[in-house]
Amino acid sequence: MVHTKKQTKIVATISDNNCEIDFLRSLYEEGMNVVRINSAHSTFEGAKKIVSNCRIVSDSIATLIDTKGPEIRTTVVLGDGISLIEGDQIRVRGCQKGECVSSIEDALYVNDSNFFNDVPVGARVLIDDGEIELIVTRKQDEDCTLICEATNRGTIKSRKSINVPGVHIDLPSLTPRDVEYIHWAIDNNIDFIAHSFVRTKEDLIDIQKILDSRDSHIKIIAKIENQQGVDNIDEILDYCYGIMVARGDLGVELPAEQIPITQRALVKKCIESKKPVIIATQMLHSMISSPRPTRAEVSDVANAIYQRADAIMLSGETAMGKYPIEAVRTMTTIAQRIEKEVAPIIDINMVRINNEITAQLSRSAVRASTNLPIKAIIADTLSGRTARYLAAFRGAKPVYTLCYRKHVMRELALSYGVYAEYGEPLIAHDRFTFQMLVRLEKDGQLESTDLVIVVGGSFGASRGASFMEISKVIHLVNKALID
Ligand code: PEP
Repeated sequence: MVHTKKQTKIVATISDNNCEIDFLRSLYEEGMNVVRINSAHSTFEGAKKIVSNCRIVSDSIATLIDTKGPEIRTTVVLGDGISLIEGDQIRVRGCQKGECVSSIEDALYVNDSNFFNDVPVGARVLIDDGEIELIVTRKQDEDCTLICEATNRGTIKSRKSINVPGVHIDLPSLTPRDVEYIHWAIDNNIDFIAHSFVRTKEDLIDIQKILDSRDSHIKIIAKIENQQGVDNIDEILDYCYGIMVARGDLGVELPAEQIPITQRALVKKCIESKKPVIIATQMLHSMISSPRPTRAEVSDVANAIYQRADAIMLSGETAMGKYPIEAVRTMTTIAQRIEKEVAPIIDINMVRINNEITAQLSRSAVRASTNLPIKAIIADTLSGRTARYLAAFRGAKPVYTLCYRKHVMRELALSYGVYAEYGEPLIAHDRFTFQMLVRLEKDGQLESTDLVIVVGGSFGASRGASFMEISKVIHLVNKALID
């Protein structure tokens, strides 16, 4: 087992153009915990290659497939694109269901039949990640056309993204391609589906229905990337495993200066609800072409760690950049340094307990681990809940967890400070402490005189945690030997 000692987890986006086993192994050894595949840029065949190479490197690496989600895009633009300067007028129309009309010089078509009805006069239509802004000046009912004016110079090309900040556009939760990818993810034993543009709980319910119909354990990460997702975060958190703060699209939908405020609020919400949170996009963007990050990027990564995000994410840096290994190493180095700085514990009263015994025990364990010279918390977990709850309180001490299911071990690759390993379910449940302590001592992670906290269940892992014990490694090992 690789133990790059850091509490904050790293998600790295991988493309099938660069997913050789040795490469993935290097990333893993530098601290990568989760491999992300962006379905917007991959084929099923390419994605399969990434997953199989990843499994060869280690069965602890979690895999995450990112869906494209319901997006509005420009249709094919004929010629060299539509060039606009400030003040130019352009007609914008939505294609009817099933049709796909090419865009021409003064008429831009988008792949959404409700576009005319949903977009009001005065709305900002942002094209190509906000590169070009149009303002809707008039609605022409007779031919369902929006008359728009460009506010800056630019050229509109084929299949570019369209965002209309603050306007509710009636889109389905899932595209047919998303559904295909969900089935692919189930067939290939993927751990997480990160669904793009989650706006309401219904978007998540639609995915969960497919997962349930096939009895799948896959967990859903809600990508929060527009105002509606931010506004509905409470109901979204009730229906997802965790969230991703997808700052790329969020930065188009919201004013740039709002992003840090929203990021901070979303991390806080996730900690309160004991759900994993990933901070994504442009964290070390300059490392796509440079071996060293900018000072501002280092501060951005550090900021996410100060806020106690569970995970930080790399996109282009590892998918197609020139310095992917250096990018993961940079994140690990920043994490190791900043984790020494952060207060040993968050305000643990902000984490909701909700009358749950496991949550009560987790809070007590993390609190004790800061008040006493504890070296580690040891737990076993059937569903992953005990480990996630221990992570929620953001203690400074590592949480070593024995899992009885491989997918649960991998799911914990997204939880702050958790080091998960797999153990055969046949091992007598009450022997887990012995098994883990012996292994941790042998690997030099603990010494026999170290004080540890054990959180476990006296009635089998399926019944949840029921006790907490604080003792020296040697006493716990000897007791298990006598028993
Ligand atoms: C983002 O928008 O920040 C993001 C992570 O999503 P995608 O890579 O799909 O744009």
